[in-house]
Amino acid sequence: MLYNPIVPELPEVETIRKGLAAVLPNRIVQKVFVHDSRLWRRTGQDPTPALEKTRIISVERQGKWLFCPLDSPHLSTGTILAAHLRMSGKFLVDKTENSATHERHDLSHLRATLLLSDAYRVSFVDTRRFAEFLIFTPETGKTLRARLGPDALNISTETLFSAFQGRKGTLKAALCNQHLIAGIGNIYSDEALWRAKMRWDRPAGHLSKKDAETLSFHIRSVLKEAIVAGGTSAKDGLYRGVNEEKGWFALQLDVYQRTGYPCPRCSTPIERRQRGGSATHFCPTCQQS
Ligand SMILES: [Zn+2]
Repeated sequence: MLYNPIVPELPEVETIRKGLAAVLPNRIVQKVFVHDSRLWRRTGQDPTPALEKTRIISVERQGKWLFCPLDSPHLSTGTILAAHLRMSGKFLVDKTENSATHERHDLSHLRATLLLSDAYRVSFVDTRRFAEFLIFTPETGKTLRARLGPDALNISTETLFSAFQGRKGTLKAALCNQHLIAGIGNIYSDEALWRAKMRWDRPAGHLSKKDAETLSFHIRSVLKEAIVAGGTSAKDGLYRGVNEEKGWFALQLDVYQRTGYPCPRCSTPIERRQRGGSATHFCPTCQQS
C-alpha cells in the first residue's frame, strides 16, 4: 500500500513549540549559521544579520506556524522569527558541548543553526527542503497571521459554523483549508470526521449549528489527545520532537492510514479515497450523517 507521508499538523507543531518554549524564551541569539538559502525564499531576505544579538521573547503557535517575537534595539517591535515545518522540517535542541545530537544526524539535511546564550544550540533540519524559516517584519507578520484562520485547538461552535457558512467544497477540504481553520490536515480531519460520524464529502456550507457543535467538540478533543501523546510519528520517521522523541498518537488512530482494517465502532473495513495530493480515510457504514 502506497501511503502519503505523515506531515506535521497542529499536535506535532504544538509538541515542538513546547520543546522550544522550554529553552528559547529570554535567551540571546549569539550566532546564526544558515546552510540553505532557500529557507527564506518567501521573503528573499537573509535573516542572519537581523537575528544576531536579539532576544527571543516567547514561542507561539497559530495553526501549523511557529512564531517567535524578537526583542532587539536594531529591529522594530513586532519583528518575528517564524517557521513552518511543511513536509519534514524539525528542530533539535541541545547544548554545544554535547555533540551527540549532531553526530546522529545526517548533516546534509541541516538547514540552519542558532547558537544561543548559555551554550544552547537549536538546529533546523529538513530532508525534503519545503520547510520555511524566516523573519517577518511587523507588517508581513501581521498580514500572514490575519490570513490564517482561527486556531483549531480551541475552536468554538460559533467560529466553526461561521467559517464554513457558504463554502461550496467538501467538509474535508474546508477542515484542511488553513484560511478557514488553522492547524488541521489529513490526519486530524479524518479522525475528527470519524468521531463525529460525518461524511467527508458532504458540503461544508450545509453544516447546521448542531453539526458544528458536534464537529468542533471532536476537533478539540482529538487534537488535545494527540498533544498528550506527543503527536503522530510515522514509520518514515520524519516527525520528531526537539529531543528526537517520537509521538505515540499513531497507536490511537481510528481511521487515518488504516485502510482495510475494521472500523473500531462497527467493524466495516476502512476505505480510502485519493483526491489530488490528499487522501481521505473513512468508514462507509457509520460515517453517514
Ligand atoms: Zn464504522
